[in-house]
Amino acid sequence: MCGIFGVIGSQNAFIDIYRGLKMIQHRGQDSCGIATYDRNFIINKREGLVTSSFEEEDMKRMTGGIGIGHVRYPTIGKGGVENAQPSFTNTPYGIIMAHNGNVSNYFELKERLHKKYKRYINADVDVELILNVFAYHLTKYKEFNFENLCQTVKTLFSEVKGSYSVIAYIAEKGFVAFRDPNGFRPIVFGKSGGKYAFASESVSLETVGIENFEDVNPGEIIFIDNDGEIHRRILEEKKQTACIFEWVYFARPDSVIDEINVYNARYRLGEELSEELKKIGNKYDVVIPVPDTSRTAALACATKLNLPYREGLIKNRYVGRTFIMPGQKKRIDAVSEKLHAIKDEIKGRSILLIDDSIVRGNTSKSIVRLVRNAGAKEVHFAVYSPPLRYPCYFGIDIQRCEEFIANKYESVAKIAEEIDADSLHYLSLQGMIRGVGQGRKDFCAACFSGKYPVKVNEKDIDQIRIDRDLAHT
Ligand code: SF4
Repeated sequence: MCGIFGVIGSQNAFIDIYRGLKMIQHRGQDSCGIATYDRNFIINKREGLVTSSFEEEDMKRMTGGIGIGHVRYPTIGKGGVENAQPSFTNTPYGIIMAHNGNVSNYFELKERLHKKYKRYINADVDVELILNVFAYHLTKYKEFNFENLCQTVKTLFSEVKGSYSVIAYIAEKGFVAFRDPNGFRPIVFGKSGGKYAFASESVSLETVGIENFEDVNPGEIIFIDNDGEIHRRILEEKKQTACIFEWVYFARPDSVIDEINVYNARYRLGEELSEELKKIGNKYDVVIPVPDTSRTAALACATKLNLPYREGLIKNRYVGRTFIMPGQKKRIDAVSEKLHAIKDEIKGRSILLIDDSIVRGNTSKSIVRLVRNAGAKEVHFAVYSPPLRYPCYFGIDIQRCEEFIANKYESVAKIAEEIDADSLHYLSLQGMIRGVGQGRKDFCAACFSGKYPVKVNEKDIDQIRIDRDLAHT
């Protein structure tokens, strides 16, 4: 998962990108990059967070009203500045590009680019492949126009598999955005005056003064030419399979994705969870969220169960999100520093803890221990998503089935035992889809169900695993 932000027609692209990226920092904390265009591309990539990476000097240097920014968390390729985005190629025209997603036929495509297309791939990151496929096919056309651009992206859709929401600027031609035909990852765009902006989440647009926005549709290309004229076309129509985890966990609650408000979706997930908990019939004194993501669902759950909602766990806001930090060691270290319990809210009570998901279980176990040590009478754990059992090949850094706690134990009761909870309940798959979609069912939920909307070939799966193992050593 990564975050992208791009703008054309801005008074100061650097400032807009900087502000836009800060709003989606949660989507990736490994590295970040900004490129602006002012007759030349000025590209600046750093390791770490946006606020600690760029200074006033950068703003003075990085002039222009057009640019692209990116925050990264690695799925393909190691972390580090050498794999940070945006990526650049000088043929044809000069193109800068950034993306959010995961190319699932990465290794096969890399080989094709080397052997057949004779394009050299420098960085170990999938946007390099998208950029080079794009550049290779665009080079075939003598004339640059929207028709030829559409043909280029259409061919790209047929060659690049997986998830990708892409923004690019082609020097002196215009700004391009496209979304893979399945529409896995979000991308929105909007206009204010003469300024157009694109972003992974709507909060980024609002922060740069764009109140009205819409989604780039699955399989769609949008091109803003250098005169500010907009051209758009659906190039490939497929059944959308947007990543349901965006609403469960990744996205900010104040974002709207594919016309579904994330906060409202999480509230409904809490309501769905409460309905299932009612049937189980355990007794609780208080509902406590595992901060921050699960607050909304916990509030809904408490309201529906007619129980008090309390903030019994406080997050140290200066420690990163554990789930998206690469490497198990980093994860364990971060958990122990991340949360602190308010004993007065916990002591002597039967606690219903609400969390968004359980991945490996070590975080959940630490949290249960923390609540027990704070004097809880009982600790019940409820999760507003189903058990995670299958790897994701569309942008999330979990490649091995054996990493999931749900695959290590034969029953939910055994998992409860392992995390030392008095009970454990996962929201059903139907409950999750109903909660997010309210009748819409066009989601990818493959990490829960094993039903992958895009086939990933075995060779690529093996190579992705080897690559991730190397990245984590
Ligand atoms: S497999 Fe899971 S995390 Fe990956 S895109 Fe599908 S729902 Fe999202």
